[in-house]
Amino acid sequence: MKVSKEFRWEMAHRLPFHKGRCKNLHGHTYKALIQFEGELDKNGMLIDFYDIYRIVNPVIDELDHSIICDKNDTELVEIANKINERVVIIDKPTTAENISIYITEKIIQSSLPDNLTQITIRVYETPDAFAEYSLKIK
Ligand SMILES: [Zn+2]
Repeated sequence: MKVSKEFRWEMAHRLPFHKGRCKNLHGHTYKALIQFEGELDKNGMLIDFYDIYRIVNPVIDELDHSIICDKNDTELVEIANKINERVVIIDKPTTAENISIYITEKIIQSSLPDNLTQITIRVYETPDAFAEYSLKIK
């Protein structure tokens, strides 16, 4: 069984290695589709939608209206900390692929129900373009 919930947030980033426009600081309305997979519990439920919200929302809320920076992009880290109250620093380039891994790693730090076996996260950078990361959690 699979159960999914969507989350949206606004965030700025840049990809300094990019040959095109993405090297510039810019923003997206991101969307994440968080999907859990596993066996139903005795009540016929995989995971309560409210529990998904409770686990995932703090991770998404930290990202909302932030500038996400690769720690190696020291110029952006310095500027972001000067101009923004909300700055998130990760240890790799801020691609949709790496953001999906970042969110997954944050989520699996929470205590998740025992019946869950896999988490899959799709991060949409635009309405028609996404990266998807899956991780077995058991
Ligand atoms: Zn972008």
